Amino acid sequence: MLVAGHLYPDLLNLYGDRGNLIAFARRCAWRGIPVTVREILLGDPVDFRELDFLFIGGGSDREQGILAEDLRRHRDNLREAIEGGLVVLAICGGYQILGHHYQPAGEQVIPGLGLLDFYTQAGSKRLIGNCAVEVELDGRPVRVAGFENHSGQTFLGRVEPLGRVLAGYGNNGVDGLEGARYKNVFCSYLHGPLLPKNPRMTDHLISLALGRSGQDPTLTPLDDRLEERAGAAALARLGVSGT
Ligand code: GLN
Repeated sequence: MLVAGHLYPDLLNLYGDRGNLIAFARRCAWRGIPVTVREILLGDPVDFRELDFLFIGGGSDREQGILAEDLRRHRDNLREAIEGGLVVLAICGGYQILGHHYQPAGEQVIPGLGLLDFYTQAGSKRLIGNCAVEVELDGRPVRVAGFENHSGQTFLGRVEPLGRVLAGYGNNGVDGLEGARYKNVFCSYLHGPLLPKNPRMTDHLISLALGRSGQDPTLTPLDDRLEERAGAAALARLGVSGT
């Protein structure tokens, strides 16, 4: 049994990001692991320490501005949960709000939670397109594919990137880094949605969530031939071979 949270599902759900939770729950169900998903809306009470997995999707600048104030009240509790090993997947706008701030073009700065050491500022060019990234999971390189669409350019401080860009832009189109990673927190610009397209990444998160909740993190293998072929085809379109 795993408990998953979906933060602001009505505000942060760009390009089918909700599919990440569907893929997470489905791959658990195929292995007989039940998943309860709790939707956390503006103003809802929540204790993040009670969750095993938290998903935060992407949203436009407008949505980020709307939720910024509500988000602040969660800061200490979410920090405690993260320090305690909560597994988090945060995409694009959801990624940006975990950092220090987001500076949209010509608008007021939107403060972030400052839980991870990075900041984001709008660039003059929108970074759009398919993207391939090499991510290390359990010490092995895994190539993931996704779709990015952001004006924000993120610059990391003392925090690891999620991976290295093989094709596309990633965090800012300049330093070759994509996403951020701290403890069990995985941040990425990749929509797609990311998890249905990249089953190895999904299983990595499931395994971590099981471990966090004191359950056996070993996963029964699934027949992923179709997913592997789809992933390889997505990478091949970018001129990148699969692993
Ligand atoms: N508002 C952010 C940006 O454009 C996030 C967009 C997104 O979540 N796709 O940078």
